Amino acid sequence: MMKALIVCESVNGKLSGNAVRLATAAKRAAGTFDILYLGDNEGEAKSLARLVGCNHVIRVTNAGFDEWAIFNLVAAELSQYTHILAQESHLGRVFASFAAAKLGVDPVGNVDEVLDSETVVCSAFSGTLKKTVKASSFPFCMTVRASAFEALTEGSAEAPITVLQYQPSALKETQKVETVTDGRPLLTQASVIVSGGRGLDAEGFALLAKLADKLNAGLGATRAAVDAELATSDCQVGQTGQIVAPDVYIAFAISGAMQHLSGIKDAKTVVAVNTDPEAPIMEVADIALIADAKETIEKLLNLL
Ligand code: FAD
Repeated sequence: MMKALIVCESVNGKLSGNAVRLATAAKRAAGTFDILYLGDNEGEAKSLARLVGCNHVIRVTNAGFDEWAIFNLVAAELSQYTHILAQESHLGRVFASFAAAKLGVDPVGNVDEVLDSETVVCSAFSGTLKKTVKASSFPFCMTVRASAFEALTEGSAEAPITVLQYQPSALKETQKVETVTDGRPLLTQASVIVSGGRGLDAEGFALLAKLADKLNAGLGATRAAVDAELATSDCQVGQTGQIVAPDVYIAFAISGAMQHLSGIKDAKTVVAVNTDPEAPIMEVADIALIADAKETIEKLLNLL
């Protein structure tokens, strides 16, 4: 019988919206799945346990320290699964690498379609190339671009929940991992994201942060803006940053390099504000405004 394992985490006390999308991919691949949930929120564990197709939730409390030590708690169980799926996120990539190394299999990355139990479609080169991959061995271990899947629904039955208590004192050294968002929604959970590029200066980014607060939006940035220290790396959107799927993504002074666009492919509406009508982002934008980014942010702040 086929059974998948997925890993989900609670960040700043909130489960990523992509967890229930990852569950859809797992259900498609194996029919049923267990969930390794790293989080202290009992309500979230119960919601996960009600997802249609969920057999069992393994909840690790007091998580958020050393991921490898936490994964070791379930290392002996991994071989019972036919599929192991994790999100395209820091934790997901670490978990997939850990599982693949323990099981001696090759992991597959960037999955955005599951065709059947042994065939998936992966994107390469920032989504410009699609590759169909057939499992060469099981467990089939993969990282999934969860935002490409719809959310799985909850049923009425609740799968059993096992609680594993993680003991950080067992480690010589521990480091607490915190995601800093200044009270704004996480990029992977935000329904609106305002994002800035190198065309904005530090003052422009300060105004952009104000706009994010007014709109209760997430604050994003390009890698060029992060490299220029205009924004922190938590804000980076794109191939080597975070993959987001908001209802609205507003890009201020962002050129639209393919490495950035691959992170916003699943945004429902893209608004671009740029002085250059030829900028690549203007081609993918649903609404393109040829205007100065900082002035536009100021006008929006005045209107709000
Ligand atoms: P630029 O390309 O310099 O664009 C600035 C834009 O601002 C221009 O379009 C300009 O017309 C506009 N502008 C200037 N002044 C104004 C103004 N006053 N008002 C309005 N518009 C104005 N990038 C990412 O973003 N995320 C990634 O994850 C990522 N991963 C990468 C991975 C690899 C392996 C590599 C090689 C690159 C990666 N990059 C990534 C970098 C990417 O290639 C681009 O360099 C980067 O996205 C460009 O950022 P930008 O749009 O801010 O800057």
